[in-house]
Amino acid sequence: MHIKPLFTLLFAPMIFCQCSFSQPPQKKSSAHMDNTNNKNKVYSRSDKSKVVLSDEEWKKVLPEDVYYIARQKGTERPWSSKYEKFSDVGTYYCAACGNPLFRSDTKFESGCGWPSFYEPVTKGSIIYAPDNTAGMERTEVMCGRCKSHLGHVFEDGPPPTGLRYCINGVVLDFEKAAAADKKFKEENKNG
Ligand SMILES: [Zn+2]
Repeated sequence: MHIKPLFTLLFAPMIFCQCSFSQPPQKKSSAHMDNTNNKNKVYSRSDKSKVVLSDEEWKKVLPEDVYYIARQKGTERPWSSKYEKFSDVGTYYCAACGNPLFRSDTKFESGCGWPSFYEPVTKGSIIYAPDNTAGMERTEVMCGRCKSHLGHVFEDGPPPTGLRYCINGVVLDFEKAAAADKKFKEENKNG
């Protein structure tokens, strides 16, 4: 009757040790700042299913600044985002849910004070709604997966689309292309 717990006690640490020793020493990754936190269970860069949470639930899982813009349609101060003058190559994701939104090769210097892009990753990345607040006729852009407010789109952008997606940097989460490329190469190395 006592054999099983004894076995577990004796061998479990050994198995654990073997696993630890068989792994190559891992370098601590500091290149990529990930906005994911343990509280936010809906954050995923691969799950395409729609996210529907109440404002109260969002408030619990999002940092205060992200919640203010994403869920209360706030606007960050112009020229306050680290992504405004940022030219690293990679992909921008929704900071609330991880949905891929924009690629760095569609980013341009608009001079408007917010990160600007001329095209989303896919048509479904973004959803649109008329916004007549603040005495202006604008088109609001939201995340296609979780409907978080991102910013607005204007028709004074560069070719090929002529559009300017003016986006709050707070709701963007950037990943460098190098990491994604490396992962892709590793996955395809043997096939
Ligand atoms: Zn989202």
